[in-house]
Amino acid sequence: MQTKTLKADDEGFACAAKILRGGGLVGIPTETVYGLAANALDGKAVSKIFAAKGRPGDNPLIVHICEFDQIYKLVAEVPESAKKLAKAFWPGPMTIILPKAACIPDEVSAGLPTVAIRFPSHPAAQRIIRESGLPLAAPSANTSGRPSPTTAQHVLHDLSGKIDAVLDGGPCGVGVESTVITLASNPPRLLRPGGITLEQLRSVLGTVEMDDAVLHPLKAGVRAQSPGMKYKHYSPKANVIILDGTDAQYKDYVNAHAAPHVMALCYDGDDKELSVPAICYGGSQDDSAMAHELFDALREFDERGADTVYARCPAPQGVGLAVCNRLMRAAGFEVLHLG
Ligand code: AMP
Ligand code: MG
Repeated sequence: MQTKTLKADDEGFACAAKILRGGGLVGIPTETVYGLAANALDGKAVSKIFAAKGRPGDNPLIVHICEFDQIYKLVAEVPESAKKLAKAFWPGPMTIILPKAACIPDEVSAGLPTVAIRFPSHPAAQRIIRESGLPLAAPSANTSGRPSPTTAQHVLHDLSGKIDAVLDGGPCGVGVESTVITLASNPPRLLRPGGITLEQLRSVLGTVEMDDAVLHPLKAGVRAQSPGMKYKHYSPKANVIILDGTDAQYKDYVNAHAAPHVMALCYDGDDKELSVPAICYGGSQDDSAMAHELFDALREFDERGADTVYARCPAPQGVGLAVCNRLMRAAGFEVLHLG
């Protein structure tokens, strides 16, 4: 199959909508990362997403809508808490999980009794949903296990020849996937941190628990609340190791371990004092910049042939919690405590 690259113009949107109505797959820009979209109400179309990505069949997808009222058809019941969250953070990078309606195919929910719903803020994503006239199931548009795509080029790198088209809407703003919160448990629980922070969720709902899997590997025998969290995820080919210590300890350790194909993922400015090739991904206090740059940096290490990457990780607060969560998975939870 030849994958078309569509422009974000009238013709491109019309073509994307037509492919989706015909049961095909289109890579679409959103404010988080690029999504791989299919008609969420068509199990056969949705199963093509799993095949193209090589995604495990037990990892459910997020259904994207372009106005709040679409949610009523997709879930069994809309609680007050969902209305409050939507009022505060939709459209935007937050996904809500609720018991599903009967129209949701098993392929979307991966057999779970619940469904994940998001109303994205990206104008191109909204227009594709509106013109197709469909709720769209869309996970990240990468090969399963690879860093999520934040440009149309990343999508083509992973999926060219396996999907019908990608609509190029430029680079994504947030850079990490949406915050996932389940309202199907009491109290509500954060399953995946993202651009909407735990602090923001708590300011609207009061108590919100953080799932253990956000910052820790799942213990043997424990069932993942969010199946996506159980996989080693977001990984470049290189072995990523998070170094936990002061600025000076980090630099000393990296410089003492300099060798061919050893590289560093560091804060802005640190590269000047490192003797290995480095990618700076934001100022030490600038979590949003790190979220924006992280996946692109992880892909670049592959291109540069890194086999070991020593990474700096921000404190697990605000958007830093999302950066930490993705980086911990990229590192397979390997953290070296210095000093
Ligand atoms: P992706 O769109 O690739 O970022 O993946 C969607 C994320 O949402 C994965 O981590 C899924 O496991 C999670 N997810 C989707 N639907 C559900 C659900 N019904 N219950 C729990 N987690 C879900
Ligand atoms: Mg993904």
